[in-house]
Amino acid sequence: MPPNKQTILIVEDEPSLIFTLKDTLENEGYETLIAENGIDALKIVDETRPDLMILDVMLPGISGFDVCKKIRDKKLMFPIIILTARDQEIDKVTGLNIGADDYITKPFGVKELLARIQARLRRSDNYSGKKNDMITLGEVTLDLKEGVVRRPDGDVELTTREVEVIRFLANYPNEPVTRKALLENVWRYEFSSNTSTRTVDVHISKLRTKVEMRPDDPRYLVTMHGVGYMLKIS
Ligand code: CA
Repeated sequence: MPPNKQTILIVEDEPSLIFTLKDTLENEGYETLIAENGIDALKIVDETRPDLMILDVMLPGISGFDVCKKIRDKKLMFPIIILTARDQEIDKVTGLNIGADDYITKPFGVKELLARIQARLRRSDNYSGKKNDMITLGEVTLDLKEGVVRRPDGDVELTTREVEVIRFLANYPNEPVTRKALLENVWRYEFSSNTSTRTVDVHISKLRTKVEMRPDDPRYLVTMHGVGYMLKIS
């Protein structure tokens, strides 16, 4: 059984293949987004963070490799499966070196592709925490789906923004995340001169009062001096 409502971005310029991929994935219960070139793909990624991307290499305009590289440069780590033409061995190596998670050679069987997708989504769920709706921080449990923090002293509600902040930090467990990365990824549309890194600090302070038992001495939502913040998850 595939997980419900995971969104897969299909980046492909060949209409018949777009149709096949869309049809197959939707039949399996995934939501699909389509981009027929690299520029559109990057735009969609900025607007809606997909759970996984299927990326053709030979695209009009910028190549699939460049798309992949740009996404990884932005520190977006959702799985990317590259579609290569038959026997492009060099491309496979290049693809994995620039941050793709897997590749599949055209022509491919639908079952093989689905198996790869499922394997990648499972793996990314396990380590990224992106779709992991329950995060345990010591005595406190964050239920991100419900937007509630379960504390020994009672439940506290999280705002949508706070859930987004936690999800983004949880994509990089035990790694420093810069204020700029948080601003660009969580505050996306509102990112302007009016929105400064101070906004991030204010939200983190507020979040600490919800997720930490002692907000003045945080153990899980910690400050990395000169860098940003880190979510410590054991
Ligand atoms: Ca193509």
